[in-house]
Amino acid sequence: MQDDDAGGARPILDRVMLKISGEALMGDQGYGLHPPTVERIAREVQSVHRMGVEICMVIGGGNIFRGLQGSAQGMERTTADYMGMLATVMNALAMQSALETLGLHTRVISAIPMDQVCEPYIRRRAVRHLEKKRVVIFAAGTGNPYFTTDTAATLRASEMSCGAIFKGTKVDGVYDSDPVKNPDAVRYDRVTYDEVLSKHLKVMDASAIALARENRLPIIVFSLDEPGGFRGILEGRGTYTRVEG
Ligand code: UDP
Repeated sequence: MQDDDAGGARPILDRVMLKISGEALMGDQGYGLHPPTVERIAREVQSVHRMGVEICMVIGGGNIFRGLQGSAQGMERTTADYMGMLATVMNALAMQSALETLGLHTRVISAIPMDQVCEPYIRRRAVRHLEKKRVVIFAAGTGNPYFTTDTAATLRASEMSCGAIFKGTKVDGVYDSDPVKNPDAVRYDRVTYDEVLSKHLKVMDASAIALARENRLPIIVFSLDEPGGFRGILEGRGTYTRVEG
C-alpha cells in the first residue's frame, strides 16, 4: 500500500514541482548515475506522495552533459544543448525506474517527442496523470537550446498550476555567500525575486527567476541531503528559504 502513513498533518500544498540537478543523482562520483542515491531521492518523493501531494519533477542533466561545456570544447552550441536535453531524459528514466520499484505510478513526459521511450508533452494529459496521483517527470527541458532545466521546471510548474517549486540542493537554503567556503554565511528565511536578481544569489538562472516572478510562483530552496526534509516542509516545518514577490 502506498498510503499507509497518509494520516497526520495535511500538506500545506496539493501539487508541487521538485527540481533537482543532474549532479544530485551522481552521489560522490564525479559523473553519471549512482543508483543508491537515485533510490534515496525516490524514497523522499515517495514519502511526500504518501501525503497525497501531486508531484511533478524536473531533473537536470549536468551529471552527464552540459551544453555550455560542449560548446566551450568547440561543439556547435545548439547541438551541445540537444545533447544536454537528451541527458535529462536518461536521468528521468533512472528516476522513473527507482520510483516504480518503490511501487509508485509514474510517467516520463518529454519536450522532445521520442514515442518509444516516453510520452510527448501534452498539457492536459500531464494534468490528468497528476490527478490520478502519478508522479510526472518532465524530461528534455523546455525542448529548446539556450535554456536550462531551471527554466523548464518553472515553465512546467506554471503550466501545471503547482503551488511552489521545491529546489533541492546540497544546502538548506539561500545564503548571502557560499556557506561551504564561508562559515559566517547567513541564510535567508525569505528573499524576493528582485533581491535574488540584484544580489546575484545562486538560486536559479535569471530567466527562471523572472518567469517565477511573473507567475507569482514561490521557490522553496531546501536541502535534499536532509532525510525527510522534503516532507517536513510540506508538513509546515523545517529549514529552508522561500523566494517570493
Ligand atoms: N538544456 C537545454 N534546454 C533546456 C534545458 C536544458 O538546452 O530547456 C540543456 C543545456 O545544454 C543544459 C543541459 O541541457 O546545460 C542540462 O541541463 P541543466 O544544465 O539545466 O542541468 P542541471 O544543471 O540542473 O543538472
